[in-house]
Amino acid sequence: MSKTKYIFVTGGVSSSLGKGIISASLGKLLQARGYSVTIQKLDPYINVDPGTLNPYEHGECFVTDDGAETDLDLGHYERFLNIPTSQANNITTGRIYQSVILKERRGDYLGKTVQVIPHITDEIKHRIKILGNKFKNDFVITEIGGTVGDIESLPYIEAVRQLRWEMPGESLVIHLTLVPFLAASGELKTKPTQHSVKLLLENGIQPDILVLRTEHQLTAELRAKVARFCNVDIGSVIQSIDVSTIYEVPILMAEEKLDIQVLEKLKLEVKERPELIQWKAFLKKMTDASEKVIIALVGKYIELQDSYKSIVESFVHAGAANDVKVKIKWVDAEKIDEQSINSILTDVDGILIAPGFGHRGVEGKILAAQYAREKAVPFFGICLGMQCAVIEFARNVLKLENANSTEMIANTQYPVIDLMNEQKSITDLGGTMRLGSYPCKIKKSSIVEKAYNAKLVNERHRHRYEFNNAYIKEFEDKGMIASGINPDTQLVEIMEITNHPWFVGVQFHPEYKSTVVNPHPLFVNFIKATLENKLNKK
Ligand code: GLN
Repeated sequence: MSKTKYIFVTGGVSSSLGKGIISASLGKLLQARGYSVTIQKLDPYINVDPGTLNPYEHGECFVTDDGAETDLDLGHYERFLNIPTSQANNITTGRIYQSVILKERRGDYLGKTVQVIPHITDEIKHRIKILGNKFKNDFVITEIGGTVGDIESLPYIEAVRQLRWEMPGESLVIHLTLVPFLAASGELKTKPTQHSVKLLLENGIQPDILVLRTEHQLTAELRAKVARFCNVDIGSVIQSIDVSTIYEVPILMAEEKLDIQVLEKLKLEVKERPELIQWKAFLKKMTDASEKVIIALVGKYIELQDSYKSIVESFVHAGAANDVKVKIKWVDAEKIDEQSINSILTDVDGILIAPGFGHRGVEGKILAAQYAREKAVPFFGICLGMQCAVIEFARNVLKLENANSTEMIANTQYPVIDLMNEQKSITDLGGTMRLGSYPCKIKKSSIVEKAYNAKLVNERHRHRYEFNNAYIKEFEDKGMIASGINPDTQLVEIMEITNHPWFVGVQFHPEYKSTVVNPHPLFVNFIKATLENKLNKK
């Protein structure tokens, strides 16, 4: 395909309509027809990136190979498309303003008054087009965060309006709205959609395709009404009905012919059918699975499960790979103490300790690691989860009383988890963070070697503290070995216990790399071990 086509996805009426999933599903369908696709998220908040946001505010912070801290929707894009994203795929208002202000200070604007239009909108347009120009994608799908009508979305909508004008025939706009069902009258209502489209029109944008989120089937009559009021053809009124899993959405969108609408409107040939064999096989395995395992997910943000989005999805992928359903038992680390632990963890087949920052809930996590180690329950510790397993082992096996991470107690006597020397002088939050992809050499005959079936892997990081190599010999002598090492820095990336069915702690975040087509080998192997654990108990 010669020229990149741009698809903008906007939302109206309500937030949380699933723009990210619709964008990812459309991307999947176009990709399945042989096109190269990337998806970008524009976030209208003023933080430069979500790295400093509390997960309660914005859910999980997703990390890319190049170390960008991004919106969790990028996780969906990667899981659906099976391609990596990068910093260029997530732009915030903070980042846009930061670069415009930097240019202004450098004098790049030659004394001109710097304004939202054209300077901010130009910067936005540049960041959108870069994904087409530089990375040569056939399609760039740009999801605009927020809802049309929000004050903070305005510069983005304006940038889309200008781009549409500058590139006639090369772009289109898909607008998502909600069709509420009023139980009292037993009716689906189209008025919010009409108003939302009017709002877009006021901003100079006529949407080409409408995707209507609904709890009930839309009739042909309702679709015709929406088409008439909103100046779109009836085939472009697409139904997005609630489904039990996000992974069904590409199939539903294919049935609704969303991809065909897009191709026809952009005057592209519709010859192939989307090639979704692997996707459908995954869905079948997921729904047909009859066996079930229960995994305790021990964390501190369990009221907001979006905080652990990629972990949850990795379990879905790994469950399908093992033909089992993974049920997550959400465990609040702060509720775990010596008295409660047995009753909380007695019914689980495996334990995962989640990543995290700060001391809240850490002692509960350490107790959970001890429980898993002593009772031979399959254990998977991710980042802080690995660090907790290390602390537990130091305290209870190496008898290093009160061993800790210097993140929790700065002057702890046995700092088994610590900052590296070169980090200690840096004070800026974020400045010391190890972010993005690093290599990891895998030890022969370890649990993780069997899982990965590879000698060298690359995994993504997001942490400050590290295993303190001064203690490595003591740990290995007592049976907790470093089975993954960074070949360049000798930092410990994986610790595992040798005389245990499956006890693995990883300093990195495997959950960021699990996709439908490539479920993460550690998650797959962990679920396999939990299933064996369950069957052995019977
Ligand atoms: N707080 C720990 C650190 O900074 C772990 C971070 C994490 O779990 N992502 O090293």
